Amino acid sequence: MGTVSNLVVSAGRWPVTALLDLLAPPRCLACRRRGGTPLCGPCAAQVPLLGHGCRRCAAPRGQAHACWPDDAPVDGVSAAFDYRGVAAAAISTAKLAGAHAGWPGLCAALLARLEREPPAVDVVTWITTPTARSHQRGGDHAARLAHLVASRLHLPVVQLLAAREVPGGRDTYAAVHPLPGTDVLLVDDILTTGATAWRAAACLRSAGAGRIHLAVLARAGTHTLGGASRR
Ligand SMILES: [Zn+2]
Ligand SMILES: [Zn+2]
Repeated sequence: MGTVSNLVVSAGRWPVTALLDLLAPPRCLACRRRGGTPLCGPCAAQVPLLGHGCRRCAAPRGQAHACWPDDAPVDGVSAAFDYRGVAAAAISTAKLAGAHAGWPGLCAALLARLEREPPAVDVVTWITTPTARSHQRGGDHAARLAHLVASRLHLPVVQLLAAREVPGGRDTYAAVHPLPGTDVLLVDDILTTGATAWRAAACLRSAGAGRIHLAVLARAGTHTLGGASRR
């Protein structure tokens, strides 16, 4: 049983963020009250879970939505939450506020959904965060999610994209392996405009990838996806 001083002495072997998680009491990722992790009871009761929706973009069934344009390089989307309210607050806290301990719990709903409806793919990868930003956040959350997904689906997980931050612009991606006909499960934390997913998936396609299925914790809105990325 380690005391706080023992933990600090051994901090050299720990990422600082992991140490902070260990020393902090568990708090709800959405309201930050002590108690439940990833979410307290009241917040868990308000989670906007997505039902079974459009297979191509995960928009809720029965809602008018604009979906992906026909030429989008994404063939399907799995998402667990509607990106609003408690779900948006919890994902933001887990990504940006160093509350990493709740991350696996937050991913549970998506993992269960993928296990029930496994996409037909050969490999799992993720939309890479440029290195500097990833360090600021204490790690690449999409990479952590991709490893959890791959483990649950018993699939290999490989980094297929290198990311570069363009000052004042959008991140650019480059494929780091040829992908002759490989069907890919591309993982990210949220799907908002779809522009990032479009550019990442297009990059995999240009490297030879076949079918690309996107898996995200949360999908925002019902607007047209990927529009700006086509220009
Ligand atoms: Zn709460
Ligand atoms: Zn759709």
